[in-house]
Amino acid sequence: MRSCEVLIVGGGPAGSSAARLAGADVLVLDREQFPRLKLCAGWITPEVVRELQMDLETYPHRLLTFPRLRVHYGRLSVPVPCVQHSIRRFEFDAWLLERSGAPVEQHNVREIVADGTGFVIDGKYRCRYLIGAGGTRCPVYRTLFKEANPRAHELQIVTLEHEIEYRWQDPDCHLWFCDEGLPGYSWYVPKESGWLNVGIGGFAARIKSAGQDIKTHWAHFADKLGAQLTRGAHYDPSGYSYYLRGRVEVVRRDNAFITGDAAGLASRDLGEGIGPAIRSGLRAAAAILDGHPYHLEDVTGMSIASIARSMLTRAARPFGAHGRRRAGAGGAAHGLRHDNQ
Ligand SMILES: Cc1cc2nc3c(=O)[nH]c(=O)nc-3n(C[C@H](O)[C@H](O)[C@H](O)COP(=O)(O)OP(=O)(O)OC[C@H]3O[C@@H](n4cnc5c(N)ncnc54)[C@H](O)[C@@H]3O)c2cc1C
Repeated sequence: MRSCEVLIVGGGPAGSSAARLAGADVLVLDREQFPRLKLCAGWITPEVVRELQMDLETYPHRLLTFPRLRVHYGRLSVPVPCVQHSIRRFEFDAWLLERSGAPVEQHNVREIVADGTGFVIDGKYRCRYLIGAGGTRCPVYRTLFKEANPRAHELQIVTLEHEIEYRWQDPDCHLWFCDEGLPGYSWYVPKESGWLNVGIGGFAARIKSAGQDIKTHWAHFADKLGAQLTRGAHYDPSGYSYYLRGRVEVVRRDNAFITGDAAGLASRDLGEGIGPAIRSGLRAAAAILDGHPYHLEDVTGMSIASIARSMLTRAARPFGAHGRRRAGAGGAAHGLRHDNQ
C-alpha cells in the first residue's frame, strides 16, 4: 500500500492549488491523464491571476485579456469596459498541476474508508489527510459529506458548450442573458490564437418546469451565432452539470476536507467556479500545514463585483497596462504592455 501524509482526489484548480501548498508528502490522484478536457468557458478574473501568483508575461499558453464585455439582454446591448482574461482549461489545468510540483497518479477513486486518524483509498493508498477536489461527482463528497451537505436541486446548472479552433474576428467577450427565456445565459469567449468557446447554461429545474429543453436553446443560440459572430463555424456541444453556491454546513470532517465544485462553490450570479476552487484548495492546504481553521463562507463572491472592480482599475489606467492581449483570430501579438493583473 502506498502511504502519504496528504492525498488529494482531483487535479483541477482546487486540487492543484492545494497540492502546491500541502507540503512534501502529498499525492494527487486523478482519473484522467493530464492534459485533460474540462468543459469550461475558461474565463478567469484578475483576482484568480493574483491568487495564483501568475505572471501573465511568462504564462506559456494561450491567454487573452478582454478589453470589454458585451452584455446583451433582449434588444439591449451594453459594452462594459473591463479587464478579464480567458485561458484554455486543457492547457491551464495541466500547467497548474505541473507547477504544483506534486506527484500525480492516474487513478479513478471509488472507495474511501476511514481508518483510525486517516483514510484508505481503494485498498491501495493510505493517507492521514484527505482533500476532496474531484468536482461535481467527487467520491470524497459522496462518501463523507453528502449527508451533511445535500445538494440543492434548485441550484443545479446544466450546460452545453463547445471549444473550437476558429479565426474569430471580434475579441470581446459576449454574454446574452435570458435569451429566448433561458433561465441563465449564453456566452462567446474568444481565446488567444484562434480558439473560441461558446456555450449556454441555465438552472436545470427551471428549464424543466418551463417544459424547455437545453438542446432547443442551443439550436437557437448556434443559429444566432452563425448569423452574427461565427459564420461557417460548426458545433458539436457536450454537456456538464454543476452546482452554484448553496449552504455548505460541513467543510471538514476530522482530517477530510472538501473543496471546489465538490463542495458546490461556484458564484450565484455567473457560475464562476475557478476562483472559489483555488481559494478553497489553498485554504485546505493551509489548514493542514499551519492548523488554520478551515472555513469557506467568504470564498465565493459575486462575479459582477469582480467585473465592477476591473472597470474601475481599467478607468484609472489605459488598457495595455492591465494584461495580455493578442491579435484576433490567431495573429501575432499586438505589442501592448503586459503586467501582472
Ligand atoms: C460549461 C461550463 C463553463 C464554465 N465556465 C466557467 C468560467 O468561464 N469561469 C469559471 O470560473 N468557472 C467556470 N465554470 C465552473 C468551473 O469549470 C468549475 O467550477 C471548476 O472547474 C471547479 O474546479 P475543481 O477543481 O473543483 O473541479 P474540476 O475542475 O472539475 O476538477 C476535478 C478533477 O477531479 C477529477 N476526478 C473526478 N472524479 C474523480 C475520481 N473518482 N477519482 C479521481 N479523480 C477524479 C476529474 O478528472 C478532474 O480533473 C464552468 C463550468 C461549466 C460546466
